Amino acid sequence: KLANATAKAELGRASWSPAAAMPSLSSTDRATNEQKLLHTMAARFPEEPTENERETFKSFLHIFSRLYPCGECAAEFQQLLRKYPPQTSSRGVASMYLCHLHNQVNERLGKDEFDCGENLKDIYDCGCGGDDGRGED
Ligand code: FAD
Repeated sequence: KLANATAKAELGRASWSPAAAMPSLSSTDRATNEQKLLHTMAARFPEEPTENERETFKSFLHIFSRLYPCGECAAEFQQLLRKYPPQTSSRGVASMYLCHLHNQVNERLGKDEFDCGENLKDIYDCGCGGDDGRGED
């Protein structure tokens, strides 16, 4: 049971925020090694997304919630998506939306609420390419 709980937490950190799943990283490495999947995807989402980009992000979240390999988490995530349909009108909106969604999971697990304020953008700036997320590298 403990091994299961540990594996579940590691999977969660790797999905929300892989740097948090690597305790061996120094704080400096963590800051420069921003590999935080879901939140970084939102932080790199275009400022002014096309309809196609909006649809893609929305589809991704739904597909992710169907395939997430922790059954209990997947079921809960699907319910959350039904209750809070994806908001994709801009990068800022998508980032705040995902932060809110993660906070819903945090609340259910009895964790502290994360501050979705100004610093969200800096924390999840991976520095990986062009500003519009379509990237030069
Ligand atoms: P995590 O919650 O993994 O967060 C990683 C880091 O992200 C934190 O250290 C913090 O720096 C940052 N962070 C925290 N909150 C926010 C926020 N709101 N916005 C932006 N950044 C934030 N576990 C279960 O036991 N039951 C479940 O039903 C469940 N459902 C899940 C559903 C999904 C879609 C995902 C991705 C994970 C789920 N998990 C679930 C795992 C759970 O969310 C955590 O990942 C796990 O418990 C490890 O938690 P943690 O405290 O290390 O930090």
